[in-house]
Amino acid sequence: MEEVRDVKKYQTLLFDVDDTLLDFAAAEDQAFRLLLQEQGVSYKEEWKRQYQQLNQGLWKSFEAGGITRDEVVNTRFTLFFEKMGKKVDGALLEQSYREYLGEGNQLLDGAMDLIAKISNHFDLYIVTNGMSATQEKRLKSSGLYPFFKAIFVSEDTGYQKPMKEFFDYCFDRIPSFNKETALIIGDSLSADIQGGHNAGIDTCWINPLKMDNSLDVQPTYEIAKLEELFLLLKREKQSSH
Ligand SMILES: [Mg+2]
Repeated sequence: MEEVRDVKKYQTLLFDVDDTLLDFAAAEDQAFRLLLQEQGVSYKEEWKRQYQQLNQGLWKSFEAGGITRDEVVNTRFTLFFEKMGKKVDGALLEQSYREYLGEGNQLLDGAMDLIAKISNHFDLYIVTNGMSATQEKRLKSSGLYPFFKAIFVSEDTGYQKPMKEFFDYCFDRIPSFNKETALIIGDSLSADIQGGHNAGIDTCWINPLKMDNSLDVQPTYEIAKLEELFLLLKREKQSSH
């Protein structure tokens, strides 16, 4: 059961995008299929699996400091198509892939309903890691875009979640921003919850798979579904009057 807590009314809600409002796996899958199609290759589950393995391996090398981000994205398709004996320009294909990814506008269940419902009562902002053009395009074509007062994408800020500097950049650009009445909502412990903690604001972890919390940091709230946020906000608002 929910505990009765000393609650307050929130004014500023900062939303993550991927796997919070939009379905990233669906966007990736669609982009991958379109890329294969563009290259005249028929889709096979096996190829998707191989690509994922290769892609994850490259990102691991990046995280370990072995290669740069650009090297990851500009070589992943060169290496992947090499596996099928096809020589391609990886950097060029990455551009196509990103275009296709920008078409990935699959809303998660309840996302539109929730955002539309709360947008008159709170100031909504997007805080997302990624490429600005891609994220903006996805938010626009999903229909979510007009509900947000501003979209903050890591590429524009020069920093990324969970860095405090990323949030400082956002806070500086939110009119009469107050940390006490701000809440970040996201699915990632390491980016969103750690980020909110670093920035000194309350956090709401969306945890549909009921994963264990691997951080030392406790989220202020934990919900399994986005819809639960509506009740949470309503409750907080009522109890602050
Ligand atoms: Mg996310």
